[in-house]
Amino acid sequence: MVLAFVSDPLDEEHASGHFYHICQGVMQKEEVLPPPPGEPIICTGCGVELEMEDFMEAHLRGAT
Ligand SMILES: [Zn+2]
Repeated sequence: MVLAFVSDPLDEEHASGHFYHICQGVMQKEEVLPPPPGEPIICTGCGVELEMEDFMEAHLRGAT
């Protein structure tokens, strides 16, 4: 797993939650925003590509 979805029930403005990249097993403090389709984010730390589909999957995982 390279992406975590965290929802904050106290944050009503951002009820959809936040995404965080897990870089080499360490969850990064900075929030990652989903990229446009076809434009994956490439992490310079571990080289992983974060695509929009990964964000959708993480969202579904976090919602269950
Ligand atoms: Zn990384």
